[in-house]
Amino acid sequence: MLSGQIPNLVEWRRGPGATRRVLLAALLLTTAIVGVGAVVYSTGGTAYTWPYLMILPILVAAALFQVTGGVVAALAGGLVLGPFMPLEVSEGMTQSTPNWLLRMGVLVGIGAFAGLLFSIVARQMTRLQEYARVDPQTGLPSEYALEQALTQLMVAGENSRSDVRCYLLAVYINNYGSITTLLGPDNTTGLIRSVARELDGLAEGRGKIFQTGTDQLVLLLQTNRREVLRSAREAIAAAQGPHRIGGEQVYVDVHVGAAAYPFHEADEPVMLIRKVKAAMFLAREQDRAYATYDRSLDEAGQRQSTLLGKLRPAIESNRLELHYQPKLDMESGEVVGVEALVRWPRGDGSLTPPGEFIPPAEQSGLIHPLTRWVIEAALEQQALWRSRGIGLAVAVNISPRNFGDEEFLPFVREVFHDYNLAPGDLELEITENALMRNPGQVARIVNELAELGIAFSIDDFGTGYSSLAYLEQLSVETLKIDQTFVRQIEGPGNAPIVRGSILLAHSLGLKVVAEGIETDAVADTLREMDCDVGQGYGFCRPQPAAKLEQWLTDYRPLH
Ligand code: C2E
Ligand code: MG
Ligand code: MG
Repeated sequence: MLSGQIPNLVEWRRGPGATRRVLLAALLLTTAIVGVGAVVYSTGGTAYTWPYLMILPILVAAALFQVTGGVVAALAGGLVLGPFMPLEVSEGMTQSTPNWLLRMGVLVGIGAFAGLLFSIVARQMTRLQEYARVDPQTGLPSEYALEQALTQLMVAGENSRSDVRCYLLAVYINNYGSITTLLGPDNTTGLIRSVARELDGLAEGRGKIFQTGTDQLVLLLQTNRREVLRSAREAIAAAQGPHRIGGEQVYVDVHVGAAAYPFHEADEPVMLIRKVKAAMFLAREQDRAYATYDRSLDEAGQRQSTLLGKLRPAIESNRLELHYQPKLDMESGEVVGVEALVRWPRGDGSLTPPGEFIPPAEQSGLIHPLTRWVIEAALEQQALWRSRGIGLAVAVNISPRNFGDEEFLPFVREVFHDYNLAPGDLELEITENALMRNPGQVARIVNELAELGIAFSIDDFGTGYSSLAYLEQLSVETLKIDQTFVRQIEGPGNAPIVRGSILLAHSLGLKVVAEGIETDAVADTLREMDCDVGQGYGFCRPQPAAKLEQWLTDYRPLH
């Protein structure tokens, strides 16, 4: 990449401090020309070889000021070596006029020719830089342009001693790959431009957009801290879309990283850009919408890698456990299935809850073997129960990351056949938040597996932002209303959300499961609301398989 390291033949005469630099260069050249004159005089006059030394300052002048510089320096040099310079100092011989005039002519010729060559080089360099300043596909300013804009801001700040403060928001388009597959590569330029337009509208003249990679944009904002946080939130919403591209409606899943100047010690454009990108990738790694570059995050990373180092062997040597929680038909009270929930036993006999190791596993890719382990372990248990006359559908939670695993689809297909499953025997729960992350890919995999006979439910419904139009396109059978609304159904605003979700689900032809039912009162309210299935501590806590079997034997449906 072109960077500020190479002295630019044109740019050194522009920008802050240019006049000072030009005057200094002119002074140095004059000194050099006079100096050459002094050398020629002190070495005996123009009859000897030293006059050719004059070519050096002329070439430098041609490089710095092109044709004008070359010619002016050649005229000055020609004069210095001209009428007043003796041919032979010791003998007091003067030069003939044609002699020094001819020399001056040769020098002018050299100066002009060199100046011309340098001006061609300078023009090419400028053109190259112009080219490097914009992305050839989208026409948006490039990372190089961002580097230059930051340099200018920083220089302006230094000169004016004003408190220059700028923020960078780096926006990463997570589902760029699948959008390219959906729309075709020709339309992705349109997508980037559309996202850039949204972000530009948001900057309202206080910022500028740059494209720093095929799937990355950076917004440079000159504003205050409070504003920038608002801007980050708006940037996430604005970038999401929907965008109308090539007749399709496209949703974009973004991760935003932020860095500030001069908050971050990197008082250099390249470092600042590196940091904002690090923040953006951190947001992506941790599956968060927004992250800033922060040293303390390194320590958290350290802790996580220790945990992950132990998790892999735990999966490989079958040391994870599954607990099962029954799902009950709200009318008949019959057990319609169980949800498998993973646990990681610690050495002291206690259990690590999934909330502690699922998120880091998701970031590291360990979620893939983990999900496969859970699915197989749950299906083995189901087969065992079946052999004892207990027929139960099992539900397994899957992570949004699993959709990015190429092995996932073939794996589920394979176990479906290996375990000889009937439609509905295996249910996969996807959180609502996961749906919109990569809508195209999710829909493709869900619909394909649904055709095979896998049931899907949307977990934690009510906490995400899935669009109704999108839900209708998915072969999903069940909505699981998030427990935060159910546990405190009497709390402000919760009952209408639950009632609304049930109505919505039914109108879409979906079944409703309420999770987090802890009391009879809540169960009664849900029954009144026409909820189909319930799950919660009030009925039964998640239990190891043997205990659940005992519970099933003792259980008598009340309704
Ligand atoms: P989830 O899928 O929404 O599961 C329900 C969670 O609520 C479980 O927590 C369950 O023990 C708890 N719960 C059930 N009834 C009640 C109740 O009445 N009151 C309260 N307060 N809680 C109740 P758990 O087992 O800690 O799992 C938490 C989350 O971890 C799950 O939420 C799921 O998203 C994730 N998870 C669990 N197992 C797996 C797994 O095998 N794979 C993946 N990817 N995620 C898993
Ligand atoms: Mg679940
Ligand atoms: Mg849930």
